[in-house]
Amino acid sequence: MSDKTEMTDAQWREKLSPEQYAVLRGAGTERAFTGKYDKNKAPGEYVCAGCGTALFSSETKYESGSGWPSFTEPAAPEAVAEHRDVSHGMVRTEARCAKCDGHLGHIFPDGPGPGGQRYCMNSAALEFKPTD
Ligand code: FE
Repeated sequence: MSDKTEMTDAQWREKLSPEQYAVLRGAGTERAFTGKYDKNKAPGEYVCAGCGTALFSSETKYESGSGWPSFTEPAAPEAVAEHRDVSHGMVRTEARCAKCDGHLGHIFPDGPGPGGQRYCMNSAALEFKPTD
């Protein structure tokens, strides 16, 4: 895509907090039950902490018990890109922001919605915009 966000590593380090950088640019995972949005039930939208793209709506957020904010589907199918991840001795589907390529979390096929997906996200990759 031609509208991808292109920033150098130094620019990302300047823009993001160390925690955001570790997740979005380093594919890190925050410890379960420590993220600021795990228990957030307020209405609003979750945008990418890296580039501001709308990624998830509170309407698809549910309590998965995993310790990470979990959604049944993205705000738009094209907003979240899927990649095969074979790190840590597992085969998983990684979720990345389609616009800035930032790591968001993983997608597991055990969700409760009609699509059967669980978008298991890191709070540090997201920024919550409450509905007015
Ligand atoms: Fe992004």
